[in-house]
Amino acid sequence: MRLSAFGEKFFSGAGILSLMDDLGKAMADGGSIMMGGGNPGHIREIEEVLRQRLLELASDEQALRKLIGVYEPPCGDRTFCCALADLLKRQYGWAISEENICLTSGSQSAFFLLFNLLAGRTREGGQQKILLPLAPEYIGYADLGIDSDLFLSIRPKIEEIGERYFKYRVNFEKIVLGPDIAAICVSRPTNPTGNVLTDAEMRKLSRLAKEHGIPLIIDSAYGLPFPAMIYTEAAPFWEPHLVLSMSLSKFGLPAARTGIIIADAPLIRLLSGANAVINLASCGFGAMLTVDLVASGEIIRLSNEVVKPFYEQKMKLALAAVEEQFTGFPYRIHIPEGAMFLWLWFPDLPISSRTLYERLKQRGVVVVSGDSFFPGLAPGWQHIHECLRITYAQDELQVRRGIGLIAEEVQAAWKAAQH
Ligand code: PLP
Repeated sequence: MRLSAFGEKFFSGAGILSLMDDLGKAMADGGSIMMGGGNPGHIREIEEVLRQRLLELASDEQALRKLIGVYEPPCGDRTFCCALADLLKRQYGWAISEENICLTSGSQSAFFLLFNLLAGRTREGGQQKILLPLAPEYIGYADLGIDSDLFLSIRPKIEEIGERYFKYRVNFEKIVLGPDIAAICVSRPTNPTGNVLTDAEMRKLSRLAKEHGIPLIIDSAYGLPFPAMIYTEAAPFWEPHLVLSMSLSKFGLPAARTGIIIADAPLIRLLSGANAVINLASCGFGAMLTVDLVASGEIIRLSNEVVKPFYEQKMKLALAAVEEQFTGFPYRIHIPEGAMFLWLWFPDLPISSRTLYERLKQRGVVVVSGDSFFPGLAPGWQHIHECLRITYAQDELQVRRGIGLIAEEVQAAWKAAQH
């Protein structure tokens, strides 16, 4: 079989593929501790709300037909988009309408479309890029470019906080927005670190994007207004040069594959066109399940009162387990301000984080090696080989055991290095 350059991408061990592969295997063998992927936890109260809604839809002939028997338009279920536009107008005063909203089959596919619509080779033979101003960034972006070298990312400033914590900050002095930068993109909260860029950092990035006439893409898969997995102060905001990506996955519907893009109407039309070519129609399942929650604003209440405390509590337990079990070696934790991850930094670790990841896999603990999260960063920074991402969304006892095994492996690595 002779493959195109595009085809070969999927053969050559794309980071997200090996991550999903490891997760799949760990799920299948059942004995592993899953602290690797981004699967959300299972929240009873949310499941119950969705179960009721599903029962209502299934017992209403018209609704059932729409649920399973109709192609939605490529920009997605209009009733849902109108309800969401109204909610955002009411809640935040944003000047948007359904013309500013497109639904996609998960936000992952929205990023594939958006990045390749904006960046890559141009007709004139140039090469446009997406700037990721705060490395580390979401592993799922890394392999999305049809052309190679789609990303340029910037080494952050590291602010050490107390004995045990740190926070990455955008290094604005290093940002150069040349004509090759087609858009800026940040996840907020950040996957993998749980960082929440401050309002001041966001305003500064937004101003830079506006001055250069390019979009600022904000990936709010864990953020505001839902699922609201933010444990610090942060304000949502909207301007016409922003592209806000949201998702129903972390609210509790990863299987319904619903991504939501809010942007200026011309970009939304372009995105809908690309979505029509690739997917024909958007999946309406998540939109139909949640449209009433969106219309009433209940989705925001549930996010703030159920989803957020669920993860915040898990975060606190995971932190306590780290503080208790990590002894005898240097480590720092990125301040966990959002999402469902702890980002652990082991300064001067005598083995690479990838070796640590392999050893942990042998011991039945699935985590993600930190070096997977630096797409577009110039080589030569030792720090990227000293970090691990762990997910604390699953069972608390398992997470605690996993953290204990990480401690053992790091202790063993230091011990071996001292002999
Ligand atoms: N963005 C971030 C930061 C994520 O962590 C994820 C998934 O985990 C996605 C986007 C894609 O999510 P989905 O395609 O389920 O909407």
